[in-house]
Amino acid sequence: MVISAIDVHVHVHDARARKLRGPEAERQFQERAAYFKRDAKALSVDDQAQQYRERDMMAVLMNGTDETITGIPAIPNDFIAEAVGNHPDAFLGFGIVDPWQGAIARREIRRCKELGLHGIGEFNPARQHFFPNDTRFYPLWEEAEAQGLPVLFHSGYAAAGSGRPGGRGVKLKYTQPIYLDDVAADFPDLTIISAHPSWPWTAESLAIARHKANFYIDLSGWAPRYFPAELVQQVNTLLQDKALFGSDAPSLSLDRWLREFEELDIKPDVRRKVMLDNARKLFGV
Ligand SMILES: [Zn+2]
Repeated sequence: MVISAIDVHVHVHDARARKLRGPEAERQFQERAAYFKRDAKALSVDDQAQQYRERDMMAVLMNGTDETITGIPAIPNDFIAEAVGNHPDAFLGFGIVDPWQGAIARREIRRCKELGLHGIGEFNPARQHFFPNDTRFYPLWEEAEAQGLPVLFHSGYAAAGSGRPGGRGVKLKYTQPIYLDDVAADFPDLTIISAHPSWPWTAESLAIARHKANFYIDLSGWAPRYFPAELVQQVNTLLQDKALFGSDAPSLSLDRWLREFEELDIKPDVRRKVMLDNARKLFGV
């Protein structure tokens, strides 16, 4: 099979996985579905694999956790590893650790490598309440670097808690890309993916991607129709080797992302890099 694209940012919304996380996680899932004006139906990982297979695409499954802040359990990394094991032609997978768990988190990064996972993420500093450049967390980046595992961070505006009183405790300050610049500088062999267009700090994230060879951006979680003009312009030129196709499905549907990206004024050779070549190089597939 010839792969035409790699979606580097996809979430599992399998009924079994959602059940493992409990009622509060389910309530928040429904809330985000309403924010993105989409349905909240479950999709089994098997059907999700099929969705990508049918389109000659692969997907990188993200996991996530903010357990030490909210008490909500994460989908076990073993679940992600099992999905990848069952569908190696359709999936790559990332495991997650809770940064506040210290040595446990560090061990879990090593275990993710053993499970055959391809990176660590999605870290979400807004929900996990931490600055990535706080040196208390450096042992984690050191471990990921040593294991050769890329790390992916949510950056910029958060759909989580949007429009709720107090944004349900989600704090945007932690998602400013400039804090990742320190991590990129201090761990030059660590590949960092900054997820989303990082609004309202888009220019900041573009500058870091231009400056740090080990820093990439994914274009997920934001309807391409509303991409800031400077993002489209930079992706088309200076950052054509640094930008990655990502949908953030199910938050944003794969088909909507693809349709709207198609409508953007992106050069054909750049389009191919963003959709496939850059991710292929990054993950060595
Ligand atoms: Zn995401």
